[in-house]
Amino acid sequence: VVVRVRAEHSPGEKRVAASPESVRKLAAAGASVEIESGAGSGALISDAAYRDAGAQIVEPGTPVGRGILFHVRPLLPAELGALPQGMVTIGVIDPFQNLGSVAAARDAGISAFALDLLPRISRAQSMDVLSSQALLAGYRLVTLAADAFGRMFGMTMTAAGTLAPARVLVLGAGVAGLQTIATAKRLGAVVSANDVRAASADEVRSVGGTFIDLDLGTADAAGGYAKELAEDRARRQQELLAPHVAASDIVITTAAVPGRAAPRLITAQMVAAMKPGSVLVDLAAESGGNIEGSVAGERRAVAVAGGLATLIGVRDIQSDLAPDASKLYGMNCANFAALIVKEGQLVLDFDDELVAGSAVTHDGRIVSDRVAAALQ
Ligand code: NAD
Repeated sequence: VVVRVRAEHSPGEKRVAASPESVRKLAAAGASVEIESGAGSGALISDAAYRDAGAQIVEPGTPVGRGILFHVRPLLPAELGALPQGMVTIGVIDPFQNLGSVAAARDAGISAFALDLLPRISRAQSMDVLSSQALLAGYRLVTLAADAFGRMFGMTMTAAGTLAPARVLVLGAGVAGLQTIATAKRLGAVVSANDVRAASADEVRSVGGTFIDLDLGTADAAGGYAKELAEDRARRQQELLAPHVAASDIVITTAAVPGRAAPRLITAQMVAAMKPGSVLVDLAAESGGNIEGSVAGERRAVAVAGGLATLIGVRDIQSDLAPDASKLYGMNCANFAALIVKEGQLVLDFDDELVAGSAVTHDGRIVSDRVAAALQ
């Protein structure tokens, strides 16, 4: 089977769905790998490095033969329409936000696998792009905040005096948030966090954070995810968080509920109560924002009593760490491909829960019931 790795062309996207390491793994499984020339440039991987790993370099836009296509960004309807019938695609689809692409994949007879729909079970961990990419995002959120914060993170004692540690508040302690907590701790900050899943108090403590229990009760949904809070509970959460936000130097938000707009955790009024020099960073800016006023891709000054704070809405944050993000993403794709390539041949086994759980379209139909319902 041929595996084609495309050069991403979405503006701001620097990642690529393969690394030399993942090419070697694919080749060992009997696949022939084609990399579009320049695909790795944003991730500092040269064509030569891919070639040395056993890949063939092809010009971008060269027609794709039947086989498997790896991608980072969801494919556009026109791109899917140009693929040969029976082609397998592997990557992030974000199907509920890209129903047009889902319909195009169905109509083109594509077998489209969404790594973002993989069940979050142990066996899926090596293919879990949501985890690998969220982990890097969590780290990057802290370095962005540190850059905007005009002070030290860690308590520093010198002969000339002592600098107090920064107080960091992390809201949403999933994969990204936990990495945020751990990274801010490593820099010496005093870190507290809140989340609504029952397991999160222990998880926050395990990475060195102080869990803020708001006495709101928990909100767990299936698959280890959170449930959306009803309006009155969501408002109560904001009220209870307000003093914690006001007391923090840095607030980093990572809260999400699958298939929903990001929960609004911080109002403009809560931001205005912070100290001058405070920094807020919102990972959810692209999906509605945990913080009122955050705009994806914008860093702006907001008025607080006595001065200004900085509010950063992030966009394409994994592309800030494109070499690492690509290395992990590429391996996630190669590990998934290993499920469907046997001795060099494509074999789709829908009895495998990982294959079935991530399939969006196959053979001219929508495989996922949830996605099919959303398309109605
Ligand atoms: P996510 O990106 O959907 O959400 C991020 C976090 O926001 C979650 O922790 C969620 O509880 C939190 N959140 C939602 N609403 C909130 C609110 N109102 N206030 C505060 N926080 C709120 O989640 P994720 O990071 O993808 O992780 C989801 C779960 O999956 C976690 O339990 C994680 O441990 C689990 N997981 C398991 C595996 C595995 O292989 N077993 C792999 C990865 C993740």
